Amino acid sequence: MFMPIPDGLIVLTFDDGVKSQFTFAAPLLKSLGFEATFYITEGLNFLTDKSRYMTWDEVAELDKMGFEIGNHTRAHASVAKQTPDELRSDIDHIDRRCEEYGITRPVTFCYPGYVHTPEAVAVNRERGFTFARRGTAPEFSYDSEGGRGPAYDPSSHDPLLVPTTGASGPHWGMDDFKWALDQARDGRVTVLTFHGVPDLDHPWVHTDPNVFEGYVRHLHDNGYQVVSISGCSTHLEGADRTG
Ligand SMILES: [Zn+2]
Repeated sequence: MFMPIPDGLIVLTFDDGVKSQFTFAAPLLKSLGFEATFYITEGLNFLTDKSRYMTWDEVAELDKMGFEIGNHTRAHASVAKQTPDELRSDIDHIDRRCEEYGITRPVTFCYPGYVHTPEAVAVNRERGFTFARRGTAPEFSYDSEGGRGPAYDPSSHDPLLVPTTGASGPHWGMDDFKWALDQARDGRVTVLTFHGVPDLDHPWVHTDPNVFEGYVRHLHDNGYQVVSISGCSTHLEGADRTG
């Protein structure tokens, strides 16, 4: 049944399978009853550095805890540098791993490195993904605007090009966080993207654990509804999608 998008609807996403998402962020979110989507790839140092990246067993544990696991491709390659067949194969690889570990098959996708192309959108559409999350561009420049981006507007955005409204990093703080939350009204959804909390491998997308705790307390104390990206879908049936 169609329920209109309420004000204060916030989507939480976490990219790259960073260990601290499992050890720190997920238990904190769970304790507050918050949902989230974790986008898993075997790229970056996922296969070689198990002190900084989750194991597949830990990914399976997140799934059992009720969090959504999303497909972030095998190799974290830019889709702009892949053929459609290479992208299909990298998506299949993550699906197979999920099957091996008893993880719910991902129904949503995240473009590696915030890069998306019409060809990749077409692959995602053919695969039947319900949502695919991108970065803040082209509307906002990541370099000059420090992680601010558009809110997701289901009446104008393709669900396979859901933008990031706030990309957490060292140059994105409480003011930016509150700015992002303010966009969650009039039928629009705020989509937040985090990497590691902390992120020791990629300092440009690092979030300090104490700062993160401040964000989630603020969400909790102010009554925001915090969902996975799939959590949007109950509000979207019957919505006017032009994408
Ligand atoms: Zn990534």
